[in-house]
Amino acid sequence: MNTKAEYNFLLEQFDDVRILRYQVPNFEHLDLQQKTLIYYLSQATLSGRDITFDQHFAHNLLIRSVLENIYKSYLSLEKHKVEPQEFELFEQYLKKIWFSNGIHHHNSTDKIYPKFTRETWRILSKNYKGKKHSFPKSHASLFNFVEDLMFNPEIAPKRVSQDSSRDLVSQSAVNFYENVNQAEVEQFYSQFIQENSKEPISVGLNSKLIRHNNQITEEVYKLNGKYHNAIEQIVFWLQKAMNEAESHEQKHTIALLIEFYETGDLGVWDQYNIAWVNDTEAHIDFVNGFIETYGDPLGMKATWESIVNYKDIEATRRTEIISSNAQWFEDHSPVNSPYKKKNVTGVTAKAINVVQLGGDCFPTTPIGINLPNADWIRQSHGSKSVTIENIAYAYDQAGKTSGMLEEFVENEQEREWIKKFGAQASNLHTDLHECLGHGSGQMAEGISTEALKNYASPLEEARADLYALYFMMDDQMLELGLIEQQETAMAEYSSYIRNGLLTQLVRIKPGDQLEQAHMRNRQMVAAWCFEKGFANNVIEKYQKEGKLYVKINDFQQLRSLFGQLLREVQRIKSEGDYEAGRKLFETYGVKINLEEHLEILDRFNKLKIAPYSGFVNPILEPIFRDGHIVDVRLIDCENYAEQMIYYSDNYGFLI
Ligand code: ZN
Repeated sequence: MNTKAEYNFLLEQFDDVRILRYQVPNFEHLDLQQKTLIYYLSQATLSGRDITFDQHFAHNLLIRSVLENIYKSYLSLEKHKVEPQEFELFEQYLKKIWFSNGIHHHNSTDKIYPKFTRETWRILSKNYKGKKHSFPKSHASLFNFVEDLMFNPEIAPKRVSQDSSRDLVSQSAVNFYENVNQAEVEQFYSQFIQENSKEPISVGLNSKLIRHNNQITEEVYKLNGKYHNAIEQIVFWLQKAMNEAESHEQKHTIALLIEFYETGDLGVWDQYNIAWVNDTEAHIDFVNGFIETYGDPLGMKATWESIVNYKDIEATRRTEIISSNAQWFEDHSPVNSPYKKKNVTGVTAKAINVVQLGGDCFPTTPIGINLPNADWIRQSHGSKSVTIENIAYAYDQAGKTSGMLEEFVENEQEREWIKKFGAQASNLHTDLHECLGHGSGQMAEGISTEALKNYASPLEEARADLYALYFMMDDQMLELGLIEQQETAMAEYSSYIRNGLLTQLVRIKPGDQLEQAHMRNRQMVAAWCFEKGFANNVIEKYQKEGKLYVKINDFQQLRSLFGQLLREVQRIKSEGDYEAGRKLFETYGVKINLEEHLEILDRFNKLKIAPYSGFVNPILEPIFRDGHIVDVRLIDCENYAEQMIYYSDNYGFLI
């Protein structure tokens, strides 16, 4: 796989969406059994794709299938052509359906309306050569029905309604319920809620509730139940994966997941989650099942999702070094000694790389995971918390080609540092912030953080950030092998200050103030250091060709300012000094200079960066010899539409 700097992370951009690729570092160093296990788990991940589409809206698969058929045959046809820009709008609409796993926007859940005309649709639909799907008698034809679904604002305008003044179930287009209203759903499930149980099952998690012949029943997602054809495939691949498991524990875990898919039994689901969370030694790991309930307006039913990953040894080593040296950092922090912790324990979290994303985790994906969701399992068995290294890296790298760096960093050498060391620097910052910063320091006796009220959380974020920033430029970083050169720390200082003073404002509307804790914290830190270092020109704001820039002139002095501010922020927290906290934020962390803000927004808007990103998967290709897998090759995906069509053709088990 190509790991050179010029690797193209951004594949394409349309409407409000960017399609990115992620790399899979060191995949070739995995052994054959591990690669084979990943391959089988990946097949299980792709096999559930149609479930997510169908859960999102009952007619998603029909719409996708009809549109794909027209799309595939269009280019080879002579007749029924439309204007090129109209066809482009048709293609864009289909791409957005793929991106959102249905016709509702992945983020807002509002219906996405076609930008091509109904007239275009009527011409294009004449090219349809596919299955004769059935359609309701109220419509003249299949195409008339699909047209209504796409264009009519009365039909399914929102996937998940949050308007609690109305019936949440009837107002939501999501396919978890049919012919039942909210009161009926609540009435139905009240009989199953185990109020007194210490280990309650996740009632209603894996089923659709439907009124049939005036009787309300659950259609359970399982083998020989709802979604049988897709689940049969998932089970088929999980069985193969089980035979390649790395350990007895992992084999047992996969066996329980198979049993869950076979029976739909939610007690088995809990057993599976306990086995999964206890299997901390697994090098190859996965998420597979009905997991998150954000897609249900009642927060009960889960959407199908899957991820296959392996531990990033290098990155996990980093978090382990930091944790095991936690006491050294605390002893050497610039904080007043009464407010230092005498006994620190660092927090370890695993870092992973994903190899395949599926269901609700695809194409848009999280950069961290913390599962399972059941509270009682989390309490008595813990949870797995992971950061996804290669996804975070891809976001970072794609950001570099967005034009942001060129627009906002005037100094060429600074740009070089950020390009070379920026990703490493920001990962290290995150580790120091999470593993050390939040856990450091102690309160004065009899004081609680409640005294700090609304400033408690920006102060806490400032404390963790400053801890990370202060130590990032410590010689100990080089000593411990956490960085190889000081420029890594310099890249982080430069990005942090620029973000705090300028670039984070691109997310704020003109005239607004900063509200969010992280944003308040970043501006407070940057603006405080700017003012305190002003006489010595530590940080410089300057204009060049009518554009505003910032640069750092003295990194060591900036480090010592970070140290001073850390000491003060820790004092404020330890003593519960509300007045000092309020003053710090109201002076440096809330107000925005409108003139500067408008200039930054203007420059940002010209870059035309789409606000949402999603990914394509790498292609896993098994190499067979005498019927056995002898290697698995990893190939970069070059074309988004091609991958989507390939998935529909090869994993379209429900249409
Ligand atoms: Zn934090």
